[in-house]
Formats: sequence, structure tokens, C-alpha cells
Amino acid sequence: MNERRFDVVIAGAGPAGATSALRLARAGFHVAIVEPCEFPRAKPCGEFMSPECLPLLRELGVATAVEQLGGRGVSGMALHAAGRRVVGRFATIGRAAPPIEHGLAVRREKFDAVLLDAALATGGVTLLTGHRVQRLLRGDGGRVEGVVTQARDGAPLRLRARWTVGADGVRSQVARELGVRRELPWLKKVALTTHLAGVTWGDEAEVHFFAGGYFACAPVDDGLLSLNLVVDQSAWRGRQRESGFAEFLARVPKLQEKLAGARRAAPLRGVGAMACRTTRQVVDGAALVGDAAGYIDPVTGEGIFFALKGAELLAESVEAALHGGRRDAAALAGYQRGRAKEIVARCRLATLLQRGLRRETIVRAAFALLEARPRLADLIVSVTGDYVPMRELLRPSVWKAALTSSS
Ligand SMILES: Cc1cc2nc3c(=O)[nH]c(=O)nc-3n(C[C@H](O)[C@H](O)[C@H](O)COP(=O)(O)OP(=O)(O)OC[C@H]3O[C@@H](n4cnc5c(N)ncnc54)[C@H](O)[C@@H]3O)c2cc1C
Repeated sequence: MNERRFDVVIAGAGPAGATSALRLARAGFHVAIVEPCEFPRAKPCGEFMSPECLPLLRELGVATAVEQLGGRGVSGMALHAAGRRVVGRFATIGRAAPPIEHGLAVRREKFDAVLLDAALATGGVTLLTGHRVQRLLRGDGGRVEGVVTQARDGAPLRLRARWTVGADGVRSQVARELGVRRELPWLKKVALTTHLAGVTWGDEAEVHFFAGGYFACAPVDDGLLSLNLVVDQSAWRGRQRESGFAEFLARVPKLQEKLAGARRAAPLRGVGAMACRTTRQVVDGAALVGDAAGYIDPVTGEGIFFALKGAELLAESVEAALHGGRRDAAALAGYQRGRAKEIVARCRLATLLQRGLRRETIVRAAFALLEARPRLADLIVSVTGDYVPMRELLRPSVWKAALTSSS
């Protein structure tokens, strides 16, 4: 079997993998990315980026290139449920002001390609497309020492590395090989995504909830609308793609009406169960980042932020470990601390929201409250905008301001 050596080998060229590679290559390391798909590739996604993504993109030096893709600014979220409509905007919450007043929505096939191109432009990244990670190489005491990949023609390749990064998405093979991946049966959902042309849309993303699921829409580049259906797997069972999609759309007549003149600009793409967690994200010689480290549901639209931020935190720790000649899990303690603060706490909140959304009585009561207290909707949307530190939610004055506002 052929063998090559790198400082770091990364499985997956999505935002988590490309950003990790970009940062580590800029720090002077030789990085390999293993990716089964040819880029640009489509990725089923709501395609909305929270405001806090922009400073991260600036730091990567790709903000201008991303803006030039023609993405649309998204000023807030209009949430529809139980016959009510509430709008939350990205606002100043307590001591936290948004870095910009809007999020950004752009097609993933374009966005992901910009990040990958930036990583390749460093000159320190070798991209192996058409290869997928099949298994891990293990050394003394089980330490991970790289991967074995398989090319489309079945040819295996051994890639040895001082650190191995699993950025291979929600069905991560690296996480499976490490034995740390767990499914979350209560969050088993399916999603169908597409792009529509010919729809007049404002500058808000919209989420339309119905019992067992929701539609999410965001205006993206090229005058298109990104449209997602997310529904409990149990509610979807037995349905055909097109007819099932139309059946669920009929459950949200307001949205159906808005989309009446629309033309399909992309096929319906489906993704299966999207929820998993991991029991560990760091082991000797390897780490997980982005969806590979765990992901629940796109309802709060934070996965791209988690991927970009997680990659920043991981690259910092891996860089220090490489400089110190370390390959033990403890060398990435900084990554674990950063994840706990920036990502895990937000995932917990998203899980709490998911639990609430399963109960119709809670949804009705919550929407009645949100309608009466508009600052509360701003608070929720701003927290999912990723710039409000979770500790801000511990300040009574933040809740007082939200709960005493009136419509
Ligand atoms: C329906 C839906 C809507 C969403 N909406 C939003 C939204 O509006 N906003 C938001 O921020 N997030 C959203 N998300 C989440 C977001 O898409 C993910 O969190 C984000 O893509 C994670 O990036 P990643 O780099 O970790 O993984 P990915 O983007 O999934 O990239 C992983 C890469 O790994 C590759 N790969 C897979 N297997 C292997 C292997 N064995 N070896 C090597 N490579 C492999 C894949 O080909 C892929 O390119 C949504 C997700 C879904 C499913």
C-alpha cells in the first residue's frame, strides 16, 4: 500500500475541515485533506450564517470573497406557529452588540468552495478528492497515527500524520472508528432541501412550524430562495420525496401562498437522521470538529458557526501541540475548554428548544408570550446569532428588559 506523511491529516473538506486546514497551513504545517466529493459540491443546508460568522470569515481573510458571492443579508427571523407570526432581530442584548446587524445567506456549494480555495492557496494543503477515510492507523497504546483512505477505484492509501482530524460531517467515519459516536433517537429527523426562483422575498429568514416539523426559508445569492423541510422521521415514513414535500407544504398555507409563483431551481435533496453526539472529541493523536463532534438539528441555524469556531479553537490547540512535540489528548485541553464555552452551551440551549417544540401546548404558550413581548423574540434570535455570550443570559436585567417589553 502506498504511504504519504503529513503533519496533520483532515477527513472532510466542509467548513470545519477547510478552516482547520487553512489555519494550520498558515501556521506552517503540511496538511492533507481527504474528501470523497469533487468541489464545488452541494450540501443540504438552510444556508444561513449567523452574524458572528462574519468576524471569523474576516480573520480567515475570506470575508470579501464570500461577500462577492452575492449572498443576502438576513436581518432577523420571522417565526410562524399556532396562527401567530413573531419577528426577532439581531439586536444588542445586555452588553453584547451584534458584530454586524445581519446574518448572511449564500449557497453552500459556493461558500464551501471559497473556504477550500483559500486553504489550497496557502500552498501548505494537499487535497485528495475522490478519497474517503475508511479506517484509522493506530500506534502504541492505540494512539491514532493517521488514516487509510479508499479511492473511487478501490485503491487504498495510507496517510501518516502527527494529528488526525475528523471533520467528516454528521455521519463521521472517524467518530465511528473511535467508537465515540452515539445516535439521538428522539431527534431522528429527515430533511429535504431545494432552491426556488421567482419568489419575492424580504430580508428575513422565515421558519414555519407545524406539528412534527417545520419549513425554513432564507433568501440566498442569485435571487434564489433556500427552502428546507425538516420533519420527524416517524412522520415522514412511507412518503415519496415530491408528493411528501407537497403534502407538508400544504400544512403551512401562508408559506404555500407566498411560494405560489415559484420555479424549482434545484432538485429536492434529502438527508436522513441528522442528530448525533460524541462521548469524546479528543483522543491521543486525533480530534473531532464541526458536525463530526456532534450535531442536533438545524432549527437554530448555527452549524456553520460551530464548524468555523470549532476549527479556530482546534487549530490553536493542534498548533501548540505540534510545536511542543505532543500527541496526547491532554495537549488539546484548550480546545475542550473552548468548545465547552462556545459550542456545548449553545447546543444545550438548542436541545432545550427542540424539547419545547415537541409539545404543542408549549409552542402555543411560547408564541403567545413572544407576540406580547417582542424583545423576547429579539433575545432568542440574537442568542442563536452566536454573538451573545451564554453568561449574558444569567443577568436578570437581560430577562427583565425582554419580559417587560410590550407590542
Ligand atoms: C437541512 C439542514 C439545514 C441546515 N441549515 C443550516 C443553516 O441554515 N445554518 C447553519 O449554520 N447550519 C445549518 N445546517 C448545519 C450545517 O449544514 C452543518 O453544521 C455544517 O455543514 C457543518 O460543517 P462540517 O464541515 O462539520 O460538515 P460538512 O459540511 O457536512 O462537511 C463534511 C465533509 O466530509 C466529507 N466526508 C464524509 N465522509 C467522509 C469520509 N469518510 N472521509 C472523508 N471525508 C468525508 C463530506 O463529503 C463533506 O464534504 C443545516 C443542516 C441541515 C442538514
